[in-house]
Amino acid sequence: HWGKVRDSLQQAVGQNNYRNWIEPLEFAELEDGVATFLVPTNFMSNWVERNFGDQILQHLVRSGAEVSRLVFAVPKLDKSPAATPDRATGARPVRAEGDDLPGALLDNRFTFDSFVVGKPNQLAHAAARRVAEGGPVTFNPLFLYGGVGLGKTHLMHAIAWDMRARDPSLKVVYLSAEQFMYRFVQALREKQMMDFKHLFRSVDVLMVDDVQFIAGKESTQEEFFHTFNALVDHNKQIILSADRAPGEIKDLEDRIRSRLQSGLVVDLHPTDYELRLGILQTKVARYREQYPELKIADGVLEFIAHRLTTNVRVLEGGLMRLFAFASLVGQEITLEKAQDALADILRMTDRKVTVEEIQRKVAEHYNIRMSDMVGPKRQRVVARPRQVAMWLAKELTTRSLPDIGRRFGGRDHTTVMHGVRRIGELIKTDSQIAEDVELLRRALEA
Ligand code: ADP
Ligand code: MG
Repeated sequence: HWGKVRDSLQQAVGQNNYRNWIEPLEFAELEDGVATFLVPTNFMSNWVERNFGDQILQHLVRSGAEVSRLVFAVPKLDKSPAATPDRATGARPVRAEGDDLPGALLDNRFTFDSFVVGKPNQLAHAAARRVAEGGPVTFNPLFLYGGVGLGKTHLMHAIAWDMRARDPSLKVVYLSAEQFMYRFVQALREKQMMDFKHLFRSVDVLMVDDVQFIAGKESTQEEFFHTFNALVDHNKQIILSADRAPGEIKDLEDRIRSRLQSGLVVDLHPTDYELRLGILQTKVARYREQYPELKIADGVLEFIAHRLTTNVRVLEGGLMRLFAFASLVGQEITLEKAQDALADILRMTDRKVTVEEIQRKVAEHYNIRMSDMVGPKRQRVVARPRQVAMWLAKELTTRSLPDIGRRFGGRDHTTVMHGVRRIGELIKTDSQIAEDVELLRRALEA
């Protein structure tokens, strides 16, 4: 109802009044003829009641709502953790040791210590660190995004652990967007909306993981929006993650999208070879602390870093397999044994892409025609993508250079070689190209 009534009120009170007084109203509940709205301040509660109360009531009644009275309440922002019951949310509060809530709700492996920093994630990592430190200049909200298995959840948990260590009295709540929705719907059903709202407004730090989940879920979005605004208004920190940038999440209301973008938006890029190797080395070193007898031959980690490129989760899976294998056979893990142990995972990511698929994907990525991919044009806008495609063809297929040349409109193998070399150089010096290539590789190997 409220959405429609709000629209008609907009006509009645004018744009300015609407924006200042009506839009910030948050409908909370309708019970026994009493409609309760939440407003940010007492001043606003008085003002709205005096100046717009009658109009709002009339419009509500006209829309068919059974309302006889309005209440404009100011949610209390309570700092003492014990004051608000958690039963309404089941959120994962991070609290001091000895509290009644189990700490296991945050994964204790996901800390800053265990997070390996490399080029693709250094910005996200630095932002996470900064937010965890608190202090005056912080980013609110911090929005982390990136593909699956690239470390978003890990970073969020790391922030929570770190904040908890710095100030055990801070009320830090971490939950997935799915859990947020579940708790919201449950509160609606059990008529505990006020509890729900109070609870989410009483936190110091709210972290919601995988917010793309609320796309298309209107009332959850609405609730999320109000929670968000209430917290930001009171300088409470919000940290969000998603699998894509706010601008790319479909079925999200514009006002929510712009709110999501209003702080710092940083992405976790697909891993590069160095980061993968770094992660493998770190994890092997950790494992060795407990199992010093583990022996891995030279070149094995390099091989895995080279071949398991999809994401860190797959990388970890591969490594776990190796560790299991090592403890079973009790011998050094050679390259052959590694290949054996990982055969099925490798087969999944095996190079069976065709040159044509590569050309299509690259043409699509750079928004050029397929005919230009194989045609004679030499301008940079088509020549560079063509070289990228050649590089990928060399990397991902077993075709020879002359063979690749033939598939690019009958080009000479030296042209292909030149293109492959050029991209090889650019990957080291031009981060845009490096990123393009890594994204394309990932898309093609998926
Ligand atoms: P996402 O939430 O982005 O899907 P996760 O945070 O769940 O990804 O990460 C998947 C797995 O990879 C986790 O076990 C995590 O610890 C690990 N991981 C990801 N990035 C790193 C990193 N930079 N260093 C160490 N481990 C990482
Ligand atoms: Mg995650």
